[in-house]
Amino acid sequence: MAYHVPFIDPRSHYAKLKPEIDRAIIECLANGDLVNRHQLKDFERHLAEFVGVKYAVGVNSGYHALYFALLGAGVGLGHEVITVAHTFVATVSAIVHCGAQPVLIDVGLDYNMNVDLIESAITPRTKALLPVHLNGRVCDIDKILALAERYGLAVIEDAAQALGATYDGKCAGSQGRAGCFSFYPFKVLGGFGDGGAITTNDPHLARMATLLRYNGEDRETGEYHYHGQTALLDNVQAAVLDVKLRYLPEWIAHRRRIADLYRRGLSGIRQLRLPHFDEARRKDIYQNYVVRTTVRDQLRAYLKEQGVETLVHWPKPMWEHKGLGLDVPTAPETLSLCREVLSLPMSAETTEDQVDRTVACLQSFFSKYP
Ligand SMILES: *Cc1c(COP(=O)(O)O)cnc(C)c1O
Repeated sequence: MAYHVPFIDPRSHYAKLKPEIDRAIIECLANGDLVNRHQLKDFERHLAEFVGVKYAVGVNSGYHALYFALLGAGVGLGHEVITVAHTFVATVSAIVHCGAQPVLIDVGLDYNMNVDLIESAITPRTKALLPVHLNGRVCDIDKILALAERYGLAVIEDAAQALGATYDGKCAGSQGRAGCFSFYPFKVLGGFGDGGAITTNDPHLARMATLLRYNGEDRETGEYHYHGQTALLDNVQAAVLDVKLRYLPEWIAHRRRIADLYRRGLSGIRQLRLPHFDEARRKDIYQNYVVRTTVRDQLRAYLKEQGVETLVHWPKPMWEHKGLGLDVPTAPETLSLCREVLSLPMSAETTEDQVDRTVACLQSFFSKYP
């Protein structure tokens, strides 16, 4: 069906920047700049500056960013990595593919790692902490870094949803050993296919990721240092991302305005919990605007009828997907999130009219639930 309020609108996103994006692509094609050329290096430099780190390494997905960052931090067979139960599956698969055991802990009311649960999950095999800055909000990164320091653990930040989000003015992905980003088309900075990057201040980790993404080869000497993978960020993709990166601050400001409109329109609804956790030190970027309600499925069906498109991240706990072979964690908050969360339309193209329409639908739905 055609939605009056689409969840995202990739066509109008492209239309806004068409001349610049087309120029960037045509330049690559006309000059034969297809693999590992200056466009990739330019984008990496700009991304590193944006995040506030020394190095950024472009790879072909957020998953590969996580996988290489974990390998770069020395995670391997026999190790455990502590992450959250409420995340995208790629976070956990990256740990498994290193030969390590994922240890899933629960999240708190802001959907992010409950830091009070970390210490009791640490064992002699724990090698790293992998917090996820979900929905565009930085975790309690100070406490995570302090615990990691005390126990000698690496911190790898899954910042796939949080490019530009800050904590005490420091960007997500700039404080751990490495930060991992995704440029999947519907992330705040999205390509025309999947892409990703690792950000770090650690020259060893940056070099290892640079080699791993390109079959383990040092392109200067021709020496193969590892059994790597074919996982370089495409040069054309990098050229497009470099154009879009210049607009990111503007887009983030727009998302914050949309979030504020939702907040004003919806805060009177008792049966709805909104994703606002005011705290001056954190600035969220609202990758997703996720509300919570016990009548989620009914609300979602109603919004669909009204032409408002929503998504649910995620309706089924990861460990219930039997093929993943995960242990069942104690994660009551994650379980209720699976039943209650609903992501409302939110993107750089979401208009005030669309928010008004969505808000009106939510109000009319809940007027029937005293
Ligand atoms: C999108 C995402 C990833 C993976 O990114 P891909 O580019 O799709 O591989 C990892 N973690 C989180 C939290 C994500 O949202």
